[in-house]
Amino acid sequence: MGTLRHEELRLLEEYSSYEQGTLQLEEQSLCSALDKLSAVEVVCPLCKKSTLMLNKSVIFCKCGLRIDTEQDGLSLGNVQRLLEMGLEQHGAACHCEPVYSLVSDAGPTNLLMTCPDCDWMSVVI
Ligand SMILES: [Zn+2]
Ligand SMILES: [Zn+2]
Repeated sequence: MGTLRHEELRLLEEYSSYEQGTLQLEEQSLCSALDKLSAVEVVCPLCKKSTLMLNKSVIFCKCGLRIDTEQDGLSLGNVQRLLEMGLEQHGAACHCEPVYSLVSDAGPTNLLMTCPDCDWMSVVI
């Protein structure tokens, strides 16, 4: 009986230290995932100087860019992907650098990507 209890205790100790170990690991990977999230830096396509910021559903920049993505619920990561996708699609057909502008025809503001060279026009956001 004595030895069994001892063995049980040892196993319990081992188990709990194992559990603590994985917990710490999980916390670490969660932290680095959060770091990655907050490290998403999207350079503003309009001024190409500041990085875009997100406040609830509004994407904005110091230069005055302001786009409400209420309907889409975009994250900065989404915006980055949309910008990259637009560049990729246009870049497949044309090598000129597209120009970005804001349009709001009495409705929500959209970010428009146009190219003066090939008449490309697409809505990014
Ligand atoms: Zn800007
Ligand atoms: Zn073009």
